Order: sequence, then C-alpha cells, then structure tokens
Amino acid sequence: MSDMKRAVVIGAGIAGLITARMLSDYYDEVCIIERDELPSEPSNRQGVPQSFHPHRVLPRGGLILEHYFPGYNDELIALGAIPSHEEEIVNANKYGKFNHKVNASFIEIASSSRPLLEWVLRKRVQNISHIRFLTNTEVTGLMVSEDQSSIIGVYTKERRSESRKERRADMVIDASGRSSKLIKWLDQIGLSVPEPEVLKVSLGYSTRYYKIPSLIQNEWKTILTESDPEQGIRAGMLWRIENDIAGMLLFNAGGDAYPSTHPDEFQEQMKHLFASNEIMELAERLEPFQGPRGYRISESIRQHYERMEDWPSGLLVLGDAFCSFDPIHGQGMTVAAIEADTIRKCLELQRVHPESKFELKVLRRMQQAIEPAWWLSSVADLRWRGVEHVGSSQPRGVTFAQKYINLFTKQAMKKAMYEKDTHLFFIQFLTNALILPPGEYFNGGVLKMILNDNGSEEEMALRAELGVQDPELFQQRIDELIPSFQLEHDEQIEKLLETFQHAMSE
Ligand SMILES: Cc1cc2nc3c(=O)[nH]c(=O)nc-3n(C[C@H](O)[C@H](O)[C@H](O)COP(=O)(O)OP(=O)(O)OC[C@H]3O[C@@H](n4cnc5c(N)ncnc54)[C@H](O)[C@@H]3O)c2cc1C
Repeated sequence: MSDMKRAVVIGAGIAGLITARMLSDYYDEVCIIERDELPSEPSNRQGVPQSFHPHRVLPRGGLILEHYFPGYNDELIALGAIPSHEEEIVNANKYGKFNHKVNASFIEIASSSRPLLEWVLRKRVQNISHIRFLTNTEVTGLMVSEDQSSIIGVYTKERRSESRKERRADMVIDASGRSSKLIKWLDQIGLSVPEPEVLKVSLGYSTRYYKIPSLIQNEWKTILTESDPEQGIRAGMLWRIENDIAGMLLFNAGGDAYPSTHPDEFQEQMKHLFASNEIMELAERLEPFQGPRGYRISESIRQHYERMEDWPSGLLVLGDAFCSFDPIHGQGMTVAAIEADTIRKCLELQRVHPESKFELKVLRRMQQAIEPAWWLSSVADLRWRGVEHVGSSQPRGVTFAQKYINLFTKQAMKKAMYEKDTHLFFIQFLTNALILPPGEYFNGGVLKMILNDNGSEEEMALRAELGVQDPELFQQRIDELIPSFQLEHDEQIEKLLETFQHAMSE
C-alpha cells in the first residue's frame, strides 16, 4: 500500500462538507460518499428532508464557516440571500416586543435557504482537487482490521446497480445525519454502544413560503416571536430567505396540537402568536407560494460514543449522527462546525505530539464542546408539558435555569423597550448563539443585577429556587446547581466579543 493518507466522509450534508474541507488540509485524498444524486442547482433533495424548513447559521457557526470557506457569506448575498444588517428585526415574547437592527461590524450572517447554503459550500468543496464525490452510493458497513481494533474502510452499495464495493481509508468519519446506521455497523463488528441521552421532544414545524410584492419591500421586518409553553403559545418566525421569498414558521414541542399544514388553519394559528398584529399586517399582503408543509421529530438524541473504551481507531462521527437537537434553537449546523473544528485542533496536536487512542480523545473533546448546546436546548425544551429526558445523565439545574432565564428575559425586554438598552438582550443572544460561555450568563454578578424586580412573580420564583439570600453566596450556589462548562479558548471568539463590547459602548 502507498503512503497516501485517505479519508472517507459518509454524507454530503453540512457536517460532511465542512469536515471534508477541513480534512483536505491533512489527507492526500478525501472521498465523500453520498447516497443521493447531488443536484446541479440549489434545490431540496431526498436525503435532507429538513431542507424545506428554515435553516439559520448561528454567529459561532458563521465564524467557523468563514474560516473554511472565506467569502461564503458574500457569495450567498450575491446569489440573493439577505444580508443581516439590512434587516429590521422585531423580537417579541410574553414580556413585550422591540425593534432593532443588526450591527454589521459585529455580526453579518446572511439569511438564505438551506439548499442555497449547501450548494455554495458544496461548490467550494467540489473545486478542491483531492476531494472526490461518490454519489448515488450508500455506505452499508465498516471494514475492520483482523485484530478488530481499527476501522480500515467502508462497504458501499451503488443505488441503481446494486453493485457492492469496498473502499479503504485511514480515517472514516460518519456524517450521515439523523438516519446514521453507526450503532448497527458497530454492532456488526461486535461493539455495543452506551445508552444515549434522549430528549423526548415531540416537536412540530409547519412552514409556508410567500412571494413578497414589491410594494411592501420597504416596509419589511423580520419578526421573531418566542413561545410561552405554560400558556401553550407557539414560537413563530416571519423572515426573508432570498430573492423576494419570505417564510413563515410555526413551532411547538410536547406533542400537543402540532402546527397545522392546512392553509386556513395555519393563517388562523398565526393570529395567536406574540406580535401577531405585526405578523398579520405583513402576511395578509404576501402572496402564498409553497406549503404549509410540516415536519415532526419525536426525539433529540445525544450519543455517548466517547464512553466506549473499545472505540476503534480510524473512526469518528459528528453532526446529527453524534448529537441531534431541537431545530428551533438553530444549533445543529453550528455544532457540526464546532465539531469539525475540534477535529482540526486535535489533528494539529497529533502532528506535534502523537498520542494513542487519538479518536477516543477527539470524541471526548467534541462531547465537551457539545455540552452547552445540549444543556441550553434541554432547559428550553423541558418547559413544554409532555417533553421528558431519558437516560442515565439527567441535565442538572434545569428548574433553576428556567427561572433564571425567565427573570433575565423579562429584565432584558424592559431595558430594550423602555431604555433602548439592548445590552442584556445581546448577552442572552450570544449565549444561545454559542459564542458566550454559559458561565458569563449564569453567574453571581448577573444574578445580583437581575434580582431587583420589585418582588415580581419571576423574582420570587427564582429566589425560592436559589434558596440563599446572601449575595456573597450566589456564585457558590450557581456552581452547585448547574454544570460547569469547560470551554476551549478560541481567538476568533475573543475577537468577536471585543467587537461586541465596542459596539455596545458606542
Ligand atoms: C426542520 C428542521 C429545521 C432545522 N433548522 C436548523 C437551523 O435553523 N439551523 C441549524 O443549524 N440547524 C437546523 N436544523 C438541523 C440541521 O438540519 C442539522 O443539524 C444539520 O443538517 C446536520 O448536518 P449533518 O451533515 O449531520 O446531517 P444532514 O445535513 O442531514 O446530512 C446527512 C447526509 O448523509 C447522507 N447519508 C445518510 N446515510 C447515508 C449512507 N448510509 N451513505 C451515504 N450517505 C448517507 C444523506 O443523504 C445526507 O446528505 C434543522 C433541522 C430540522 C429537522
């Protein structure tokens, strides 16, 4: 065998594309194996059934994508995506609503459809000479070394001809999404998998698209309205994707009364959102174009492959195949980007200080990086009646965090509405955007600041959950209640936060 180093990536979704691009700096040949025929233009395809629905990239994901695909955001805009700084945004929740504009010097992420985003990234990857695409080809199993300790390639089946082949590789990365068969493939080579964490979320999406008549282009506002699970109020979003097309999304979790896919009922349900006046004012002048179409997910699943001491060398997994999330929080693609970047950091280290059990260490580092996103989305989803967490490691501090977020959200909305001060709002946004470590949001100093709401219901509920009065003890109590998140230092994030502080002080 030659000295060429070969990698195989299973799946040409978002995780697969970023990973292949990243691996092309370390491997002589990267082969992406994809079961779909890949369209020659931006369009939905069978293997990514979620792509009809809105796909936002969070700022942390945007930073990583710019690193691997410099200028991708400008390319999206040139193809009709909407620059975020052109958008006036209305944020609404049970405490009120306010309008703001995105500060472009701080964050610029274009709004586009998922097919357009995937197409732009795929074109870039297709232009890298040592990356090959093997399409219409399904991976059906893992090739294992004689001593069973290493993965040495994959078995494939061509979709049309049923022809079966072997493809050897030094590294196989499963990026095959929610439908990954990795558990079955590991079982076939005699490896059993630890119990995953499962969030039984029973969520429903319904999305409808409209053409925006030129008359209302100038009045356009993006409207983001949060849910109120206690009152059964859905979340909604009215936004522009690209080329004069707008989308309206309705969402709820808990399995109770999924959003409708019937046009009249959908229209009626829009009237029960926060900020419904603003939504209806625009929506009634839009021209229905596609949908409403639904999407349901029963479970978010976090695998714990990193707990397998017998994990084989030559195998990694990332994206939805490793951990899938409730999509309303917009985390999936960003977490996939974080994971791919974690693999890069580990490959860099491995070059300088080669270590045994490399793959297991990578999985452990990825799992640490996933933790904030998993915990934050669990905290949010567990507010819905009917959602439950199953698995040995229950997320810690959920009730405390929910009450903390309630009071913080209320204070942030008051400041934004009455003092035009969006500082608190952006702190919350940056935490959910996976830029700010959760410890910057949940900490004793912030807690002291928000516990001054004239004895409101939210304040009393949080004080009761906290169980201590002395502000000097707040940090210690928070440390007892919620997990400590070990986050890696990242220069790009440091720079972004500096820009944020600067933008906020202007
Ligand atoms: C309704 C909905 C809305 C969402 N909105 C957002 C959002 O706003 N922001 C966000 O960040 N995330 C969002 N997500 C999540 C996002 O879609 C995923 O996190 C992201 O696509 C994960 O990428 P992936 O590459 O792991 O999987 P996918 O993008 O699903 O790609 C998997 C690929 O693997 C291929 N494949 C599968 N099995 C095989 C096989 N055996 N052999 C060869 N190929 C195979 C498939 O054909 C597919 O191309 C949303 C998800 C849903 C369901």
